[in-house]
Amino acid sequence: MATSPTEIRALTAAAFRAPQKFVDFCRNGGKPLAALINGEEVTGTMNTTFQTIDPGSQELLATVCEMGDAEVDLAVEAADKAFRGNGSNGWRDMGIEQRIELVNKLVELCERDRDVLLACEILDGGKVSELAEGDFGQIRACAEYFSDVARRIALGDGPSVKVADGVRGFTYREPWGVVAGIIPWNYPIVLTSWFMFPALLSGNTILIKPAEDTPLSALYIGKLAQEAGFPRGVINILTGRGEITGQSIAEHPGVKYISFTGSPGVGQAILRTCDRHGTRMKREMGGNGAAIVLGDADPGMVARMVGRLANQHFGQTCCTIHRIFVDKKIADDFIEAEKAFFADLKIGYQGDSGTQLGAVINPTQRRRILKAEQETIARGGKALLAGGNADVAGRNGFYLKPSLYLTSPGLNVNPDEVFHTYATICPVSSEEEALHLANSSPYGLGASVWTRDIERGVRLAKQFHDGTCQVNCHNTIAYGLPYGGQGISGGPGAGVNCEDTFRDYTQVKSIFVSDYPE
Ligand code: NDP
Repeated sequence: MATSPTEIRALTAAAFRAPQKFVDFCRNGGKPLAALINGEEVTGTMNTTFQTIDPGSQELLATVCEMGDAEVDLAVEAADKAFRGNGSNGWRDMGIEQRIELVNKLVELCERDRDVLLACEILDGGKVSELAEGDFGQIRACAEYFSDVARRIALGDGPSVKVADGVRGFTYREPWGVVAGIIPWNYPIVLTSWFMFPALLSGNTILIKPAEDTPLSALYIGKLAQEAGFPRGVINILTGRGEITGQSIAEHPGVKYISFTGSPGVGQAILRTCDRHGTRMKREMGGNGAAIVLGDADPGMVARMVGRLANQHFGQTCCTIHRIFVDKKIADDFIEAEKAFFADLKIGYQGDSGTQLGAVINPTQRRRILKAEQETIARGGKALLAGGNADVAGRNGFYLKPSLYLTSPGLNVNPDEVFHTYATICPVSSEEEALHLANSSPYGLGASVWTRDIERGVRLAKQFHDGTCQVNCHNTIAYGLPYGGQGISGGPGAGVNCEDTFRDYTQVKSIFVSDYPE
């Protein structure tokens, strides 16, 4: 049955209030929330705490302890010990079915405490429930996918090949040992799952550094992992600021592999640090997503679809659509429909029913976005919707209006990721022009083509300089298909969520064996 354009709406909040278990978790008996190291709560030697707030109200949710060099040392030592055991009974030696059993137990506990984890995403992360519920589903989906991969991809000895007379060789694949996941604030549950499950199932032990703005999901998952019975030191959650805790993890030579998701600047800096002591790294970074709308598309329908996706998590999604290139033939109708969609978004508190555009994560982001709006105008963009601050009655959050601009080929009005419900529309004369403009960005995370002609769409999609190229959809992910970036948006290594991701959590050696010379 065909979808009517009016049925396409933005992700929307249902009314949400904090469950008591979440409130108790945050209060922690009046003490700051500690990190989890070696199965114990650690408050740290720095005697420093930070606060995590609800971005929609600026109400304090929890006070959290910050970890420094001493705690990173402690965590690396504990994770290494858990990895090796006494030589034969470490996490690396545990049978795959035993590891899967523990992972399953953790997933079940997450599902038991679904409302607490939803509270972490909605109240700490500022998400609407419709998105938070989808994110929550990734815990099981990710665990099941990587359990299946772990059963299929054998570690240890590869097939033996004859190298020369009396000489054979084979590969030996093994986990890295202690790995780390450094996580951004926008998708805490999703990224904790994406990093933790492949790392653990391939035999590594892990340090997780959640973002300072959204530490609660990872801390709660860490707590559930203890309840599930993971051996001490296998999962360690290190809370703190990027430049303190994150930097200390990057500088530690005992961390053998780091998975990072975040901004390109920070990812580049961590890679340089890691390279000094041989720590390997995988990076998934920001984007400046493009959507090309071809002349055969229904402008009203596609404008709503693009608007819905551009507003996912209020544009705070890494591959979000910020740049739209539309065939001149349908540009007027498309612009009108997109403007109406953006203007109709219901701005409000993320826990109130009907909200579609909530607060951005912190005041720095709000300032960055407001500056980007001014710069778009200064570079020649014409405001269709001017953005700016928004008020939500009774809520003191970081609220902004959506912004939309008209631009033309040759004007590079939005060179950087803005990370809000912000987009530019550029009418174009040909698909070649659209493709050239879409590809003229150093980012390369996600792009899409919108057309009734699927064959033409696929042909164009293949020409994007992006890691995820989509036809009549955007922001789509699927286990088994790599999610990664080209250009400054990703690499080295494969993207996440595929078999290669699992292999990325292992290293391979060549073993040569010659007959003993008689
Ligand atoms: P940042 O790069 O600022 O931070 C990411 C993580 O790195 C945080 O945990 C941060 O800690 C930490 N960090 C910051 N500085 C350092 C340092 N010097 N050493 C080690 N760690 C450090 O990104 P944001 O949190 O602002 O997230 C938004 C960005 O993430 C956007 O660019 C977005 O596109 C991208 N992203 C990419 C995705 C992808 O799959 N490609 C998915 C989701 C987001 P702290 O928070 O304490 O500063």
